[in-house]
Amino acid sequence: MSENKAPGSPYDIVIIGGGPAGLTAGMYAARADMRTLAIEGASNLSQITATDIIENYPGIPGGINGFELIERFKTQAVGFGLQNASGDVTEVRQARFGDQNGWEVVAGEQRYGALSLVLATGAAWRRLGVPGEERFIGRGVSFCATCDAPLFRNREVAVVGGGDTAIQEAIYLTRFVKKVTVIHRRDRLRATAILQKRALADEKIVFAWNSVVDAIDGLDLIQEIRLKDVKTGEKRTLPVSGVFIFVGLTPNTAPFRKLVSLDGSGYITVDANMQTSVPGIFACGDCTAKRLRQVVTACGDGATAAFSAQLYVEELKGEAY
Ligand code: NAP
Repeated sequence: MSENKAPGSPYDIVIIGGGPAGLTAGMYAARADMRTLAIEGASNLSQITATDIIENYPGIPGGINGFELIERFKTQAVGFGLQNASGDVTEVRQARFGDQNGWEVVAGEQRYGALSLVLATGAAWRRLGVPGEERFIGRGVSFCATCDAPLFRNREVAVVGGGDTAIQEAIYLTRFVKKVTVIHRRDRLRATAILQKRALADEKIVFAWNSVVDAIDGLDLIQEIRLKDVKTGEKRTLPVSGVFIFVGLTPNTAPFRKLVSLDGSGYITVDANMQTSVPGIFACGDCTAKRLRQVVTACGDGATAAFSAQLYVEELKGEAY
């Protein structure tokens, strides 16, 4: 971390991330009269925008589309005075503003000064790392059923993974495709019970248990995947037109590696007040180390992080109650 004497007047709070955690933090901070900026990633949109339906967010029986929910969050936060910017944050440096310490956030050509930071960068889909995966992205390999399912109308596809995302997306795919084979490396699912029940009862979904993908093959487009049974070592091919990969998440925390403490998997460690290892820097949502990654928990984290940042800034300015 290099120290920098940044010009101009800093924001009270700069939030990095424009998902449910970041926007809730933005709404709380702006509503508390903090001068607040939320920087939304330019390349990585929040995962929620690729979610067809969120049916477990309280107060919305019947569910809501992810894109619509995030637009509502944005409208509400901006209504309280949250400022917005778009850009990929690559670096955060220590800075001084007059006699106050803070940070300078670097996003492309832009520099933003902050007295306090809220890190809310979420997480991205993990890759399988098998031959063919990168080559066929956009030509059969997908990480978003909501975006790509209609391209596979009446075709046979595979879904890899056994968690909530894989099963939820497999169920969504059945609206379009002829058949979905869920490939899971164990003999039972990790997904929550209600999703399991729905998937197991769905005639269009079949399971390849104890199986992993060894390779993805084809010419211009995917034609087949090679599977291996992890118990017997037996190999087989499965003809499919698409492979939807949902094998968990990687936190978007690379720019913060030298800034705050991370756990062994790269998630930001926080206390109950969303305080990171560095005073004045808070974190919330899927980029933090925690058990339950849901929209509702991200929102709760975001509210707590904003309140903690507010108290920190008020203390810094000598305005604490
Ligand atoms: P996840 O819960 O981490 O599940 C990842 C799945 O992929 C697991 O079944 C895992 O197998 C499998 N896997 C991991 N690496 C693999 C590899 N290299 N090869 C093959 N399989 C592999 O991830 P997620 O489903 O994306 O969910 C992420 C978070 O979002 C979770 O907290 C989840 O509850 C939440 N979420 C909630 C909802 C909802 O409430 N409706 C919807 C979506 C996501 P193992 O089981 O053997 O580890």
